[in-house]
Amino acid sequence: MLAQENIEPSKIHSFLYLYARYLYQVKNLRKAGIIRELDEFMREREPNYNPVDWAARLEKYAEVSGKYPLCQCHGIWVTAGELHRIKEIGDKVLERLAFTLLCLARFGNFRNPHNHNWVSYSNGEIYSMACINTTALEKDLKLARLRELGLIEYAKKINNLGVQVLFMEESGEKELFLSDFRTLGYEWRVYQGENYIRCDGCGILTRKRKGTSKYCSACRKQSDLEKTRQRVARHREKRNASQKNKSGRKPA
Ligand SMILES: [Zn+2]
Repeated sequence: MLAQENIEPSKIHSFLYLYARYLYQVKNLRKAGIIRELDEFMREREPNYNPVDWAARLEKYAEVSGKYPLCQCHGIWVTAGELHRIKEIGDKVLERLAFTLLCLARFGNFRNPHNHNWVSYSNGEIYSMACINTTALEKDLKLARLRELGLIEYAKKINNLGVQVLFMEESGEKELFLSDFRTLGYEWRVYQGENYIRCDGCGILTRKRKGTSKYCSACRKQSDLEKTRQRVARHREKRNASQKNKSGRKPA
């Protein structure tokens, strides 16, 4: 991320949080030093950076930078028993939702051994990863349905939006390895034998279309744009060359 020239605006907060932890745990800096580095980073990268607006946030990132150890997750395993339990639901959409919650809970346990199978993402984030497009009301109803089936439980605290996954196995036969959480709902569909491809550009799962496209729609657009650019450049080169030839000719 440090080597990247541009960081997506939506990712700047999670980046600063990670960077602060890196500075604390790898570079052994403490609060004042971390704030100084974060401030310098923002000055260099963000043309619209206003130190006054950001001061409180940078301080917050520096304060919590030593709280959790840095960790890198290469992926998580799902067991045969868990997959069987999801298949038993018998509703494609609920299956994707349950599968997504299971993966997120296991990732949560990896990050924090005291997590106890809790998932604390927003409904929007969960449904986006589950590849389910639906209304806010339906989002709540589907979670309630999984609760009725005994697969999840809600947090008892009023202001806690978390969901606990109840069908996770402590141990069990490892069956499916997941290393990409962007489209967990599609990962479930692939496991069910549906026809998806992994994009040659960015690796995301995308539905297989007619023809031989190896790209997702975003990468295909990018690749088409690149081809157009090359075509225009070739055309321009040719034209320039022929104009040079014409101007080099002796007048008749
Ligand atoms: Zn792609």
